[in-house]
Amino acid sequence: MNDTSSTMQEINTVMEAADAAFQLYRKIRPERKALFLESIANEIEALGDALVLKASEETNLPLPRLMGEKARTTMQLRMFAAMLREGSWVEASIDTAVPERTPLPKPDLRKMLIPLGPVIVFGASNFPFAYSTAGGDTASALAAGCSIIVKAHPAHSETSGMVYGAIKKAIAQCGMPEAVVQHVHGGNETGKALIQHPSTAAVGFTGSTSGGMALVSYAQERKVPIPVFSEMGSVNPVIFLPDTLVKNNAALAVSFAGSVTLSMGQFCTNPGLMMSIESDALDKFLLLLDEEIVKVKPARMLHAGIHKAYKEKMELALKQPGVQHTNTSLVAGEGEALPNIAQVTGKVFLENPVLHEEVFGPYSLMVKCADLEELISAWKAVSGQLTTTLVGTDKDFEEHAALVDIAEQIAGRVLFNGVPTGVEVCPSMVHGGPFPATTDSRFTAVGINGVKRWVRPVCFQTAPMHLLPEELKNANERKILRLVNNEWSRESIEAKI
Ligand code: NAP
Repeated sequence: MNDTSSTMQEINTVMEAADAAFQLYRKIRPERKALFLESIANEIEALGDALVLKASEETNLPLPRLMGEKARTTMQLRMFAAMLREGSWVEASIDTAVPERTPLPKPDLRKMLIPLGPVIVFGASNFPFAYSTAGGDTASALAAGCSIIVKAHPAHSETSGMVYGAIKKAIAQCGMPEAVVQHVHGGNETGKALIQHPSTAAVGFTGSTSGGMALVSYAQERKVPIPVFSEMGSVNPVIFLPDTLVKNNAALAVSFAGSVTLSMGQFCTNPGLMMSIESDALDKFLLLLDEEIVKVKPARMLHAGIHKAYKEKMELALKQPGVQHTNTSLVAGEGEALPNIAQVTGKVFLENPVLHEEVFGPYSLMVKCADLEELISAWKAVSGQLTTTLVGTDKDFEEHAALVDIAEQIAGRVLFNGVPTGVEVCPSMVHGGPFPATTDSRFTAVGINGVKRWVRPVCFQTAPMHLLPEELKNANERKILRLVNNEWSRESIEAKI
């Protein structure tokens, strides 16, 4: 499907099929869904080197990075399979009847999470596997019991097509409804029509702020509102505390040069903003950082549009009054991104919102503040973030303990030392954050809790036992963890409804 051919009739056909598939798929038992997710992972692996070679050709990302990302993608699918087998993710809770309660008897109430319906997933350009066709949004929404329509990212449409081929094989092998996952190509109009179709229940997106907010506005024009989970820009402020700059500046320069330039800075967790209090140690750190940055070879970015946006946004930032460009010795070839570090005073930063904007690429701005008060003001001036990092020694953390309170209000993940790039996939990870990092800070896009974006709770009151879902029946045959009369239990219960 493309924009010239994506008539409303075609969108209707896709969405009707998605809706019909959802009605069948939602009723399929967890074990079969788990086998399906594992089968997708196996089929992706069966594509072998051809898949990463195609992705590298389309995205300019290096093979080792893509191999790691492919492994993460198949791991995520298996992680959701394990979650389905274990079963407690549905958050079952049971409050048994108390018929003798006065003045009114208490009815039997049983609650669990159920899937929302067909989900539109917009593939991300910077993660051709892990946030695209069979990435975290697709895996979590399939685990929830939703059907999926993937809008392929045009920057890696053939890679996306290959992954979809693997999904189709898994669908056939596992006897799943054919349209449980569909794959469409097209431009903005296709995306808009998919979001505005009455059968669409939710949207997952990773990309630009303008794109993510456009999707939200399409959803708001609908008669029936739906959630849009957009993960958008983030500058991930890093606060360097004074003692660590005196003691560790060489090591910090190496690790932060690596983080700023990793995959040519094309990570949503890239440290695009650094802050510290003016000192000789800070100036020394900036010199060392520059020495490390110039060791990084300029390279091609994901696609021409991202390169153009990087160049324009970086040039705009660098020409702002008071911005000093520390790195002058590198030259980029045609289409390549030039790694860059700039610096500015806290006063200028606070007065100029252009400097608060994300520059997506291998760029970071150091804000040199006059004192702690100015640093806190500058930190608070940047809006919601995926991450924020405090870099310090034990002494620093003892003296600046109050900063943690600010950090947790700014970001979804607060790091102590280390670099923000590199997102561990595990239940305790939060990959989300206050707006504009995402449109809904209550959810994570990474880890098993990502499933919660695609479900809603339903409560059955005084339901006959045989009509209840298995998870809410007295027998609890799968021994899932349930909250029964306010106590956690994996046991069966004996209760009359
Ligand atoms: P994008 O422009 O936001 O596009 C992502 C997806 O959303 C594409 O499928 C695109 O479809 C669709 N889309 C965008 N605007 C739309 C609209 N108005 N209506 C309907 N669909 C729309 O992101 P990108 O191409 O990956 O990169 C562009 C910029 O996004 C980068 O320069 C960077 O600043 C930012 N970015 C940020 C992150 C992050 O994690 N923070 C990640 C990736 C990119 P079409 O191709 O048809 O427009």
